[in-house]
Amino acid sequence: MEEYKVIIIGAGISGMSCAIYLKRAGISTLLIENNAPGGQLNKINVIENYPGYEEVNGTDLAMKLYSQVMNSGVDYVSCEVEKVDYEKKKVITLENTYSYSYLVFATGRRERLLNLSHEEEFLGRGISLCATCDGALYRGRDVMVVGGGNSAVSEVLYLANICRRVYLVVRKSTLRAEAILKDRLLALDNVILLKDSEISKYLYDSEKIKGVLLVDGREILVDCIFLAIGSIPNSELFPGEKQDGYIKVLENGKSSIDSVYACGDVTFKRVYQLITASNDGVMVASDIIDKCLGVEF
Ligand SMILES: Cc1cc2nc3c(=O)[nH]c(=O)nc-3n(C[C@H](O)[C@H](O)[C@H](O)COP(=O)(O)OP(=O)(O)OC[C@H]3O[C@@H](n4cnc5c(N)ncnc54)[C@H](O)[C@@H]3O)c2cc1C
Repeated sequence: MEEYKVIIIGAGISGMSCAIYLKRAGISTLLIENNAPGGQLNKINVIENYPGYEEVNGTDLAMKLYSQVMNSGVDYVSCEVEKVDYEKKKVITLENTYSYSYLVFATGRRERLLNLSHEEEFLGRGISLCATCDGALYRGRDVMVVGGGNSAVSEVLYLANICRRVYLVVRKSTLRAEAILKDRLLALDNVILLKDSEISKYLYDSEKIKGVLLVDGREILVDCIFLAIGSIPNSELFPGEKQDGYIKVLENGKSSIDSVYACGDVTFKRVYQLITASNDGVMVASDIIDKCLGVEF
């Protein structure tokens, strides 16, 4: 069985930031990721609020980070963590078992669904969770985005550039997105804002989605519906203290379980952004480095 001082689950920006700092301090680190490195970064078309970059594509930043991680000598495994034995300090994947002194959850979060019937069945076939990934398939067509926050408005701005018409369905009477994003949205003439609206069911034929029926009885015909209605933390493997499913941590990232830390979007906090996720990863790394070096604060 391979032994590591630190095992990080999740190679989003938080886990990768943590790994870089640990490895630079000479600490043996394993990073385990079950998908593409970068996590949610891969869903962002344009990032404009990450210091040092006026504009950067999410996947490009993910690849730069990944290559920095690999060049720093961090061990990287592409696999799903299935189980953690907290007593024996072991992480179990489909293929292997690894032991750790410190474990870091950097598992991020995933998109929430509306939980309407046939939703799972049409995911990837007319219902999408990522405009950057699937938007190009609907070039010149009519599509719909559901949600009222920054993610939803960012999805609309991306789609409005390639689709004929974009409907934005918002449950409330106002958008929660930042003012700068709202202003850009309102300036577009191919975006139709449907406030105080909710989808009551998906319309489909045997093969694909045809549109939606709104609760007020209106039918809107679109080729794809992009959901941006919030997220669920990937915290199922963590049995310790949580709030609303998010792992509760101290300022240094320590969780309620001994030797277990968490950072980034999987933690309960105020701001869920790239820079805060990266910061969280560095705070965790710093605490572990201090412990390994026997430094007390
Ligand atoms: C559409 C969209 C647009 C956004 N725009 C911006 C923006 O413009 N600016 C900004 O600052 N932020 C933006 N954000 C938010 C930002 O992307 C996140 O805050 C940040 O990426 C979170 O990073 P993370 O490392 O905590 O989690 P994630 O990026 O979610 O990474 C977690 C990783 O853990 C992996 N994982 C989970 N469970 C397991 C397991 N059991 N085994 C192995 N691996 C596992 C996942 O596959 C994933 O790769 C946006 C988010 C979205 C969705």
